[in-house]
Amino acid sequence: MFDTVLIANRGEIALRIQRACHHLGLKSVMIYSQGDAGADYLKLADKALCIGPAAPGQSYLNQSAILYAAKAAGAQAIHPGYGFLSENASFSQAVADAGLTFIGPTADCIRRMGDKVAAKQAMREAGVPCVPGPEGSLPEDRDTLQRVADAIGYPVIIKAAGGGGGRGMRVVHAADELMQAVSVTREEARRAFGNPELYMEKFLGHPRHVEIQVLCDRHGNGVWLGSRDCSLQRRHQKVLEEAPAPGIDAALLERVGQRCVDACRHIGYHGVGTFEFLYEDGEFYFIEMNTRLQVEHPVTEMTTGLDIVEQQLRVARGEPLSIRQGDIVTVGHSLECRINAENPESFVPTPGTVYRWDVPGGIGVRIDSHVTSGYKVPPYYDSMIAKVITHGATREQAMARMRTALAQFRVEGISTNLPLHQQILEDAAFKRGAVDIHHLERWLKERQARS
Ligand code: ADP
Repeated sequence: MFDTVLIANRGEIALRIQRACHHLGLKSVMIYSQGDAGADYLKLADKALCIGPAAPGQSYLNQSAILYAAKAAGAQAIHPGYGFLSENASFSQAVADAGLTFIGPTADCIRRMGDKVAAKQAMREAGVPCVPGPEGSLPEDRDTLQRVADAIGYPVIIKAAGGGGGRGMRVVHAADELMQAVSVTREEARRAFGNPELYMEKFLGHPRHVEIQVLCDRHGNGVWLGSRDCSLQRRHQKVLEEAPAPGIDAALLERVGQRCVDACRHIGYHGVGTFEFLYEDGEFYFIEMNTRLQVEHPVTEMTTGLDIVEQQLRVARGEPLSIRQGDIVTVGHSLECRINAENPESFVPTPGTVYRWDVPGGIGVRIDSHVTSGYKVPPYYDSMIAKVITHGATREQAMARMRTALAQFRVEGISTNLPLHQQILEDAAFKRGAVDIHHLERWLKERQARS
């Protein structure tokens, strides 16, 4: 049991976690870098400690400084948020070794799911559908490689076992490109991830990104909380998400959701997590598991009525889940637009001072943001400064509320991608729903050609 939580993160998610702590009567300690000093949201914590310079390596990624801050502030638990140390197995272990609670899964689970070959193997064992391809990593010799690719059928994708962030992947369209692609990807994987291990799978041509949120306690209970569609991506970065994923057969979703919960039991998973799938022609294909809270968790909160961060804190305290699968009902539809400090045309980040920050409101509108008028967006971190989330009885109503919310959001001093979101909401294909993961990039190319 803990009563004080150190939040090892910054910005909107630090505030989101602080609020959940407050709801539960827990004290919160925020850490911050010199790059975030003076930000208003830090005042909401019971304690705020500067742990180092702006560079993430010297602050938000500095494990020993964070552990030292936890000891100094009397925190017994650490919430890593997303990004930074949230999927770092050695940090989870170091927190446990220091006698503190890591609010997330064990180091073993993080390690296993972080290795994509091992993750895929564990999912296969648990009956979760995976992208076609051989089990295990790729050999070096040409003949075997060619046989493996022929068996899958071109196009195939070569992926690094240790890959992440959309890096360490290469699509191969024909046999004569295979050897070159394998050696380039292997070298890249060795350099970027320190692990040359590769695997191969079928390359799907027009999939959607559909994911399933799970929540598990330390007593073997688990639930899945419906689906999300995050197909609108630019350079593998999600831009706009929604729940539920439109147009997916309920019985199929239920089967896959249940398999995700089974998989959690199989690997001894506790905490919140997300199973990411590619969905094409009515089939789900597992690609990876995120062993942490995700940016887009609010759309699931809006449709299930559950506070996912509160649940996460409760299970970390050892409480058994108070909800059963049968209690979970998803109501209506929810959308989330990620608002970034960036040029809406060129996507170049636009750090600087926000002179005016008038956030929208009204029924079915939620803003998750740490920004206030006068806030200075630092240049050192991710450019996301707010999430606009809407909920409605139908997808159309959620979209209408989003259009109004975006139109009434006034930001002055810096550029944001608000206009981009407004344009996406007028796109006929997006309005119909169920676009594939290449849709946004195609749409951006067309927009550029028009201008
Ligand atoms: P990362 O951990 O780097 O994000 P993922 O395995 O989640 O890597 O893949 C990232 C993205 O790459 C996916 O969202 C999808 O757009 C594309 N991708 C990955 N595997 C495949 C595949 N087998 N077929 C088609 N696209 C894929």
